Amino acid sequence: MAISNQTTDKVREQVDIEEVVNDYVPLKRKGQNLWACCPFHQESTPSFSVSPAKQIYKCFGCGKAGDPIQFIMDIEGLGFTEAIRHLAKKYGIEVEEENNLDPADIQEYNEKESLYIALNYAKDFFHKNLESGEGASIGLSYLKERGFDPATIEKFELGYSLDGWDHLLKKAIAFGARIMTKDKKQPKYINSPETVIYHKSDVLYGIYQAKQSIRQTDKCYLVEGYTDVISMHMVGVENVVASSGTSLTESQIKLIKRFTDQVTVLYDGDDAGINASLRGIDMLLEGGLNVKAVVFPPNEDPDSFARKSGKEGFRKFLEKEEKDFIHFKIDLFAKDAADDPIKKAEAIRQVVLSISKVPDPIIRSVYAKESARLLGMEEDILLTELNRQ
Ligand code: ZN
Repeated sequence: MAISNQTTDKVREQVDIEEVVNDYVPLKRKGQNLWACCPFHQESTPSFSVSPAKQIYKCFGCGKAGDPIQFIMDIEGLGFTEAIRHLAKKYGIEVEEENNLDPADIQEYNEKESLYIALNYAKDFFHKNLESGEGASIGLSYLKERGFDPATIEKFELGYSLDGWDHLLKKAIAFGARIMTKDKKQPKYINSPETVIYHKSDVLYGIYQAKQSIRQTDKCYLVEGYTDVISMHMVGVENVVASSGTSLTESQIKLIKRFTDQVTVLYDGDDAGINASLRGIDMLLEGGLNVKAVVFPPNEDPDSFARKSGKEGFRKFLEKEEKDFIHFKIDLFAKDAADDPIKKAEAIRQVVLSISKVPDPIIRSVYAKESARLLGMEEDILLTELNRQ
């Protein structure tokens, strides 16, 4: 839904670059300008400057520059209209909608608005449940037992739904929840029915808490479950999102690409799981992302391993075990392929299949060279197979 020019003008008049940037990085005055370590790239000495006189920012390290609206677009990954809305909210400016829209658009907009209100209400409701009664005795103790500290519970606004929560706006509430019982037959995660504003397939759990860190590290870790995300935050790895237990979708990949081109997929340590999710790697490659992978030890997932290994151990493990997708796939198939020519041929086909998904021809040929070397075969043969795909 469009917003009026008057609203855009009001936002432009009232925003202040210093106030806007200060919400993300603390600014220090030096001469005429204000300085900070850049929120868009990683650095230890400040090269990010803000000019209150000119109402602009500029980073001398990575070159990002613009006005307050541009800053919000860049840091929040928003479009222009969304950025105006974001700033209007911060400055308490009422947003006027353009009325020359057809009734269907207006109805959709109204539905979304009322759902957002319902969602916020419900989120607070679940969150407050943790304060007393069953919520405190079962919900909060469960979260504590899982090792979630109070700061993390606040950060992710974790909540607890009392038995019979269906009564509360069953249709409107879009939540991901984890089933607490140890009954293996139950699915691990439940989501409420899809609504206008909650399309499970478009959502990446944790993206809101992760985006600044993804931008700074220029890298995104992709995991399967909510609890993987939360446990990784607790060991200081914040550039992580989850596909919410569903297989990866195109809109999720586009969302990641708004913030970085580098994705590392974290796999639980069991073969069945990995083989089932190999398609995800090809989709990421098709989306033009650079893909790496880390496989956790048998019977471990990022959640359990983070809590077992602690901050230092977890970081070191990720650094040490990270492989590009070619090495990852070769290792995966080479296990059975050593003395079996047919299995080796299958391994080659699997690697070539992934390479064929890479949209950039130059990157594709670099990957082809590297795989030919690793597989100990003629590059020409591999290229022929690649062209066939
Ligand atoms: Zn920068």
